[in-house]
Amino acid sequence: MLWKSRIAAALCCLAALSSPLGAAWAAQEQDQAAAAGAGSRAEWYVGEDHFWKMGTYIEIKAFSKNPDEIAGFIRTAEALVEKYDDMLSVHKKSPLKAVNDNAGGWVEVPEEAAMLAEKSVEVGALTEGAFDPTIGPVVNLWKIGFGGDRVPSDEEIAAQLAKVDSSKIEIKRENGAVFMKIAEGQQLDLGGIAKGYIGDRIAEALKAAGCEKAIINLGGNVNVVGSSYSGGAWKVGVRRPDHGEEMTWLAVVDMQDESVVTSGSYERYFEKDGRRYGHIISPATGRPVELDIASVSLVSAGKGAETDALGTAFFVMGWDASVEFLRRHREYKALLLSKDMKRLLATENLRGKVVVSDPEIKLEFLR
Ligand code: AMP
Ligand code: MG
Repeated sequence: MLWKSRIAAALCCLAALSSPLGAAWAAQEQDQAAAAGAGSRAEWYVGEDHFWKMGTYIEIKAFSKNPDEIAGFIRTAEALVEKYDDMLSVHKKSPLKAVNDNAGGWVEVPEEAAMLAEKSVEVGALTEGAFDPTIGPVVNLWKIGFGGDRVPSDEEIAAQLAKVDSSKIEIKRENGAVFMKIAEGQQLDLGGIAKGYIGDRIAEALKAAGCEKAIINLGGNVNVVGSSYSGGAWKVGVRRPDHGEEMTWLAVVDMQDESVVTSGSYERYFEKDGRRYGHIISPATGRPVELDIASVSLVSAGKGAETDALGTAFFVMGWDASVEFLRRHREYKALLLSKDMKRLLATENLRGKVVVSDPEIKLEFLR
C-alpha cells in the first residue's frame, strides 16, 4: 500500500509503526526535529509501505520534495526486501534453504549469501562462539516464535546441539561462481544477522536512487537515510520492552545515515511453568538464554550485519561479558538495558546523542 500526503499528516503515523511485532525501536519524529533550520517539514512529501515479510513487520518511509519520485523509492525498497527474502529465507525455496536441504554437498549461492555466512563466522569468533550461524537445528527444535510451546528433553537438545559447529561451513569461489557446503545434519540460520545487512542495503540503494530522506524499519531494526527536516539528526525512540503494544519511549537517540539494531528476547517467546523462553539460544547449552539483559541496541553507519549479530551475541554473553566486550572494543556504539530496566548503559561515543525519556531509568556511560 502506498499513500502520499503532506508530511505533517503523514508523520502522525510514525508512532504506530512498530507496534505489531513489539519491536524495541521505532523512528519517531519530534517537534524539535522540525525546528526552523535548513528545511521545513511542509516541503516534504512522504510515501509509506508496511507489510509482513521475513517473519517480521516491515515499514518503509521515503521522503521527497518531488511527490512523483516517491513511488519509485518505495518500489526500490520493496524490491530489495523481496530479493533478500528470496535469497535468505529458510522457510521457502531459496539458495540458503538449498544449502540446508543438501547439507553435506556443495550448493551454488549468491556471493552475498556466502559473504553473510562468512561475516557470521567472524562475529562468532569475535564473541567466542556466542553467535553461531549453525544454531539452526537447535532453533528448529525449540521453534520459539514459530509455534513452539514445549521444553525439549535433554536428549533431544544434546542430539541437535552436536550438529552446531560453524567451523564446518565451507565456501569456495570458482570461475566467478560461489559454492557453500555445510556438514550433514547442519542447518544454517542467518536470522540473527540478515536484517541488519538488508537494512543497510536498502538505505544504500535509496541514497543511490537520489532519495535524501528515508526511514526503514525491519522489525525494530531501523535505518535512517539522511538528516531530519531541520538538517539535524533523526530522533529514533527506543521502546520500553515491557510495555507491550504501548508506545512508551525509554530513550531517544540522534541518528543520521545510520542504523540501530536491537535484540530482545521479549520479541518472540513462549511461557511455560512461569518461565519465559526467548528466541535467542545459547550455543553452549542449546537452551534459550537466561534473560540478564532486557534489550541491546547497537548504532552504526554501514555495519548493520556485524552489529545485528553482535546484539544477538550480547544476549548470549549476558550483561557482564557484554560490558567487558564493549570496554575492549571501543568502536561500537551500544545501549544495554538492564534486566530490571533501571539502568541504561551507553557507550561513551553516544554521549550527547541519547536522551532518556523515562524518569525511572538512569542513563550511565561506560567507563
Ligand atoms: P535477533 O532478533 O537479531 O536477536 O536474532 C534472533 C534470531 O537469531 C533467532 O530467531 C534465531 O533465528 C537466531 N539465533 C538464535 N540464537 C542464536 C545464536 N546464538 N547465534 C546466532 N543466531 C542465533
Ligand atoms: Mg541480531
